[in-house]
Amino acid sequence: MPRARLDWRLTELDKRSIRTFYQLLGQEFGRSGIGRVQILDWLFGDDRTWPPFLSGGWHHMGTTRMHADPKQGVVDANCRVHGLGNLYVAGAAVYPTAGSANPTLTLVALSLRLSDHLKTTLV
Ligand SMILES: Cc1cc2nc3c(=O)[nH]c(=O)nc-3n(C[C@H](O)[C@H](O)[C@H](O)COP(=O)(O)OP(=O)(O)OC[C@H]3O[C@@H](n4cnc5c(N)ncnc54)[C@H](O)[C@@H]3O)c2cc1C
Repeated sequence: MPRARLDWRLTELDKRSIRTFYQLLGQEFGRSGIGRVQILDWLFGDDRTWPPFLSGGWHHMGTTRMHADPKQGVVDANCRVHGLGNLYVAGAAVYPTAGSANPTLTLVALSLRLSDHLKTTLV
């Protein structure tokens, strides 16, 4: 059984993106009067420093990653396994990378897109 090797790197861009997301969310909540957002202090510190309590989620994905090049991925843009005419993968396994947001809605959208594609190929 091959074992996954985790290569998880946090960058300055990650921290800036998180901070900007919450700032925009807070501005929009304030503008529409539906609430307020309190941003944790550590997000305003040095962009290269992360707090010790950070942890990951439980979002398994990327084991049959999508890429146009069979050497770099398992499935093509239509979720078809490279080199096989009739094998498709529907699920978070086709994600080439993982983001911070929950993945299931996007994988459902990808699966619906795949079903539309299959309808055109199976006629
Ligand atoms: C604790 C936890 C909390 C989560 N919370 C959220 C959340 O709040 N929001 C969100 O968006 N996502 C959440 N996720 C992630 C979400 O569950 C997954 O992204 C999603 O289930 C992935 O769907 P999938 O169809 O790709 O894979 P799976 O749901 O894992 O489906 C794969 C299926 O393939 C089957 N299978 C495996 N090997 C074989 C085989 N050889 N032959 C036949 N069948 C096989 C498995 O039994 C399984 O049924 C959470 C995950 C965990 C673990």
